[in-house]
Amino acid sequence: MPFRDQLLTCQSCGETFVYRVEEQRLQKEMGLELEPPTRCAKCREDVDTGPGLRAGIVKWYQEDKHFGFISQGNGSDIFFHRSGIEGDPTKFVENTPVWYEVTETDRGLQAVNVHLRE
Ligand SMILES: [Zn+2]
Repeated sequence: MPFRDQLLTCQSCGETFVYRVEEQRLQKEMGLELEPPTRCAKCREDVDTGPGLRAGIVKWYQEDKHFGFISQGNGSDIFFHRSGIEGDPTKFVENTPVWYEVTETDRGLQAVNVHLRE
């Protein structure tokens, strides 16, 4: 089945949002059912952990590439860049528990203020 952007209406706030191809592909890669979300990303985030910090685990980070991904509590991964790391980037190895915040960029959601969860 080819992926394509779907326009959906959020059941919480009533706003129209896009169920993006990248999101669908990610669900597929994670072996999840392709399930269109019922709420927009913002409302889902609010439900997730509330505003502010979320807990995640570093899926991988490559210092030479200056970016990596965090496995989120909701099962999806989120991109993070070296500039979003607080502290020593060499400590952000696979399976490191971290706190992070989510911000929306023109390239999609991105984790910022990524720091060690101890
Ligand atoms: Zn909404």
